[in-house]
Amino acid sequence: YAAKRKLSGALLYDPSFDSASSQMLSLLTELRRAVEGNELRLFLQPKVSLVDGTVVAAEALVRWEHPQRGLVPPMQFIPFAEQTGFVRKLTLWMFEEAARLMGDARVQSHPLKISINLSTRDLLDPDLSVRLGSLLQRYGVPATQFCLEITESAIMDDPQRAETTLNRLSEQGFQLSIDDFGTGYSSLAYLKRLPVDELKIDKSFVMGMEKDEDDAKIVRSTIDLAHNLGLSVVAEGVENAVILERLADLSCDEAQGYHISRPLPAEAFLSWRAQRAEAPLPEA
Ligand code: C2E
Ligand code: MG
Ligand code: MG
Ligand code: MG
Repeated sequence: YAAKRKLSGALLYDPSFDSASSQMLSLLTELRRAVEGNELRLFLQPKVSLVDGTVVAAEALVRWEHPQRGLVPPMQFIPFAEQTGFVRKLTLWMFEEAARLMGDARVQSHPLKISINLSTRDLLDPDLSVRLGSLLQRYGVPATQFCLEITESAIMDDPQRAETTLNRLSEQGFQLSIDDFGTGYSSLAYLKRLPVDELKIDKSFVMGMEKDEDDAKIVRSTIDLAHNLGLSVVAEGVENAVILERLADLSCDEAQGYHISRPLPAEAFLSWRAQRAEAPLPEA
């Protein structure tokens, strides 16, 4: 009972807590149950082209539909899942859900690229590419339908192993994206060596670009940098029409954010996409 009560707080895991290990054990048990008991949900958030407003892809974001706590956001359990290594199971679950979705008639008729977030643990797993490959085979989906998002910090945790993993995934046909770009500590000289296709400008800069001149400069130079390196660039955290417009003026390739759509359950996303087909860019 005590463990349950503590778990009902805002933070599912508080490392400063005295009996942290028993708390961790019970959260791990809950997470296992979540995967096996069908409590995880794959939400999708659209990525739209800033050239013609079409929905070019969607990012898969995990949600935990906890029987007592309701919809738990990822930041409340991903760091813990990282720490325990459980996140690898979660990645495979998300990837399998996405691969299954590719078989849906509505996706077959209007192909969709799906981005999946990878964690540090995934990059350190020498079998990741084999595991993903066997899921692709099971669902009959090509790797080119997927983009894998990796943060700079996940790469810099063990750059050499990350490079090996990323080279393998890229050879397999996956697109690779650097998430939260600008917030980590990777050097450009190093990033240049990686088989990356896309940079995602961190939402803190995008959200700040209206009011903070420095954020605006960071956004502008990141777009230029990406293009000079031959990469596609996505702005995340686009919350209003003014920012959307400015990004288009700066020749940013794609945008993602609440102004376009919040992350939606997969089913709702597919309806949203079908309805939007005739009304490309959101109203100002
Ligand atoms: P991320 O990969 O950078 O995902 C973008 C986050 O920004 C999502 O938060 C999304 O809901 C939020 N977002 C999108 N547009 C806006 C906007 O206009 N304004 C604001 N304020 N926020 C916006 P979410 O879903 O809570 O996920 C947070 C982070 O958790 C993700 O950041 C990612 O690092 C991690 N995460 C989520 N799902 C997964 C997963 O399946 N696997 C792994 N390894 N990590 C995941
Ligand atoms: Mg992401
Ligand atoms: Mg991000
Ligand atoms: Mg993030």
